[in-house]
Amino acid sequence: MRSIRTLLLAGAATAALVLAGIAPATAAVQQAPTVAVTAQTTMPPPVTIFRLPLAAKTYSLTSHFGPRCIPVRYGPTVHRGVDMGAAGGSPIAAIAGGIVIATVDGTSTREGYITIKHNFGGVEYRSVYMHVWSSTTHVKVGQLVRNGQRIGSVGSSGASSGNHLHLELWQSTASGLVAVDPAAFLKKRGVDLYGSAYRVTAQPTPATCTYYTVGGVNFRTGPSTNHSIIRMLPLGTAVVHVPGLITTGFIPVKVGSQSGWVSASLVSPTQPAAPATAPPPAPKPTYAATAALNLRTGPSTAYARILVIPKGANVGVILASSGDWRKVTYAGKTGWVHSAYLVKR
Ligand SMILES: [Zn+2]
Repeated sequence: MRSIRTLLLAGAATAALVLAGIAPATAAVQQAPTVAVTAQTTMPPPVTIFRLPLAAKTYSLTSHFGPRCIPVRYGPTVHRGVDMGAAGGSPIAAIAGGIVIATVDGTSTREGYITIKHNFGGVEYRSVYMHVWSSTTHVKVGQLVRNGQRIGSVGSSGASSGNHLHLELWQSTASGLVAVDPAAFLKKRGVDLYGSAYRVTAQPTPATCTYYTVGGVNFRTGPSTNHSIIRMLPLGTAVVHVPGLITTGFIPVKVGSQSGWVSASLVSPTQPAAPATAPPPAPKPTYAATAALNLRTGPSTAYARILVIPKGANVGVILASSGDWRKVTYAGKTGWVHSAYLVKR
């Protein structure tokens, strides 16, 4: 597989992220009542007019399409769409005419989305509108929609940190569906996602990203568990990654100057907290005699007296206890005193 970076350089509009067989719109099974897909053999009528998916100046463009640093553990290093932050419930419009081929309702743990199949110059494309809650309030599978027609509302279902539309565009190619940058694609057709935002907060992708191992992680010579282990990286080891590069779930990284591979699922952008160091033990209290006090060889009056501790004398810490008796040291002698005559200093 060519690197994503190479593909991006090949031309923005056709920048291809080869789909690993997981395009949401390709699901061919009826999974649940809230999930609907249709037979996808019908090509909709060709269209040439394109629209913004959200009203101009009502959204901020918060994340670019393409390689990115893994944002959270298990997160992707490639962003297959553009993110447009907008108020919850804002109308979402079809970017072009087409036929609705999938509707999936969202939950807090599942991304809801609507997929529309298009015919752009005889080439099949699919636009995907993600993070909706209800997917069938405005459209249903099999329905033909016009450009600009309302299809849903902005939501925050699934892995989402706030109300936004994640817009994807997939192009059918000889090697399958590939994700293309919807902003670059639409710009060439007179629709400017960036220029129409009231604000652009998307950050440029850095040349490298630093992650941290989430436990003892094998540092390998290649992108699978069949490759030999260079060494074990302890918890919290910093690894440096070129964003976007990933092969079968493994990412190439550098640890210091050494190159190898780690499982992408075993790193996090968050540096683990330093292991808690045990607090120093609280100092033991010391005691003093409240009266002249017999120091005895054992914990009862049956034991012989070693000496008499004067009133107010410091007897240090309690070395042991037995009933009401305490083992202490005074004047270099260790013995037992009755606890009734001790007070904390
Ligand atoms: Zn997104």
